[in-house]
Amino acid sequence: MIVKTVPVTQYLTTNTYFYIDEKSGHGWIIDPAAEADKLLQIIFENNWNIESILLTHGHFDHIGAVQKIADTLQIPYLINHNGNQYLSNPQFNLSAMTPEPITLENALYLKDDDIITLKVNPQICLQVISTPGHTLDGAIYYDKSNALAFVGDTIFKDSYGATHFPGGDFAQLMNSIKNKILTLPEETRLYPGHEAATSVKHEENNFK
Ligand SMILES: [Zn+2]
Repeated sequence: MIVKTVPVTQYLTTNTYFYIDEKSGHGWIIDPAAEADKLLQIIFENNWNIESILLTHGHFDHIGAVQKIADTLQIPYLINHNGNQYLSNPQFNLSAMTPEPITLENALYLKDDDIITLKVNPQICLQVISTPGHTLDGAIYYDKSNALAFVGDTIFKDSYGATHFPGGDFAQLMNSIKNKILTLPEETRLYPGHEAATSVKHEENNFK
């Protein structure tokens, strides 16, 4: 599997990830945050077949390119349960403070422990693990076979997500980090929504 990290910027810089099976060219885009044309160009240049859009949470700085990519590629976008509260409400997704408030109406909703399989090769799959705390709808996408997870804004390299936005809860965030992320195998690579990648082993030291 290929992980391609594409930092994109509108108001903030966010990591959009492509997670692609190199054999088939099929895969997912995680958090198409902004710069839809740039992301589409990467997809077309590589001849990738993106099966769906996966969202780690509904904040404005993670969803800015969702509508255009979903419409252009005719693919669904998936978010954890509680996500509608964010996608449908600019106060909750924080786009109300920008000149272009965002509402997204047609997401598909996931729940804890759902498995998302790659249609072209169902052996390739991601497990949905709910990680509320930064938001109510936080989820990570975990590939056990390849020892990696896309973790959104739950945890960052040597840091963790803010909890002062709507639905944020510090105790819940710590619970998510300690009991949902740091319990994954040590070698698991963690790909956050902002800044550099890290690993369970590296972050364990920060939460002792
Ligand atoms: Zn966020």
